[in-house]
Amino acid sequence: MSRVFVKKASYDNLDQLIAEIFTLYDINLRGKRVLIKPNMLGAFPPEHGNCTDPRLVAAVVREVRKQTDRIWVGDNPMRVQAGGGVDDSARISGIYEASQGYYVNVGAKARVISIGSEIIAQMPVSEYFLEADAIINLPKAKTHMIAGITCCVKNMFGAVVGSAKAKIHYDAGHAKRFTQFLVDLYKYFKPTLNIVEALTIMEGDGPTHGKIREGGKIIAGTSGVEVDAVVASMMGFQLNRLKFLQLASQAGLGECDLGKIEVVGDFEPWPNFELPSTYSGRPMDNIQVAQAAEIHEVWGQVGRLHPRFIEENCTACGSCAEICPAGAIALDPYPVVDEAKCVSCFCCAEVCPEAALVMPKEEAQTLFLRLNPQIREG
Ligand code: SF4
Ligand code: SF4
Repeated sequence: MSRVFVKKASYDNLDQLIAEIFTLYDINLRGKRVLIKPNMLGAFPPEHGNCTDPRLVAAVVREVRKQTDRIWVGDNPMRVQAGGGVDDSARISGIYEASQGYYVNVGAKARVISIGSEIIAQMPVSEYFLEADAIINLPKAKTHMIAGITCCVKNMFGAVVGSAKAKIHYDAGHAKRFTQFLVDLYKYFKPTLNIVEALTIMEGDGPTHGKIREGGKIIAGTSGVEVDAVVASMMGFQLNRLKFLQLASQAGLGECDLGKIEVVGDFEPWPNFELPSTYSGRPMDNIQVAQAAEIHEVWGQVGRLHPRFIEENCTACGSCAEICPAGAIALDPYPVVDEAKCVSCFCCAEVCPEAALVMPKEEAQTLFLRLNPQIREG
């Protein structure tokens, strides 16, 4: 059992807190090459709240620099091949400036490797991830329509270069296999330390266009799986319904039962937290119906969910068509989704800068309620 540290925090007192975390976990980086990996979702300014806040990145760079100046700071957003450059994302998110000269475009050097996953045989991976002696993982605490949350485990998906991520969604076939791949990837690149930016958090249908609210916490630990379990618990998820936690625990990567995790500090649930519609019954009673990953497995039998288009939001930029791994989106000039081809990965919703493609909330909740008895019996 490792220890997960939860601390009330504000953007103003991060240096002292980060130093405390490094001491608590006895982090020794002397002589090492360190990759600091924030969540840099795309070219979004800090006030959008969907990237790791640059003030946390800056505080961690200052702390790591006490031990080594062999530092890289960077991430590898899926949106790159869909119109937003990596460098633009770094500059607009504030992460470039926060890196204090250590920023690198981690997508610029890639190597095709096998991580020993049964789901995906080979994939292009950033050489910066491969060459780092230690990875300091700095995810943002957000909901995710498919995985439930995106935090420590999901943040390591950034090791895969650019739009190859969307292809992995497609090649994995359905969300349960995709979730297993995420666990395999996390295991391969296991970070030395995870520090979650939960000062502002995302609820609802994240990870791009959910609702931002105050979180007021920094959460840290050496087991990203256990940190994720604590974050998910604070959000109000039932942990046995998060498939990636179950799979990660089975792989020996950490506990996913809160009773078996030593949590120290200021643990407290975020009140009235809105779960993704894929994990909730109706917004009013917030029923958790089933694991989205299992739902994906039965969608083939009873119908799938497809992204809903909101024309008044759309700028016809084409990013969704460019990223779609199934070739299911035609532009005329607005996107038209071919539902026969669509594999319900929602990559299009993730890369859309305007929230013009979204999860069909009511359909999701209705379908999941209808599926619930079948899933329970299964
Ligand atoms: S839905 Fe419209 S705005 Fe969104 S990515 Fe597609 S074309 Fe661009
Ligand atoms: S249309 Fe959207 S949800 Fe469907 S396969 Fe393409 S990217 Fe995935």
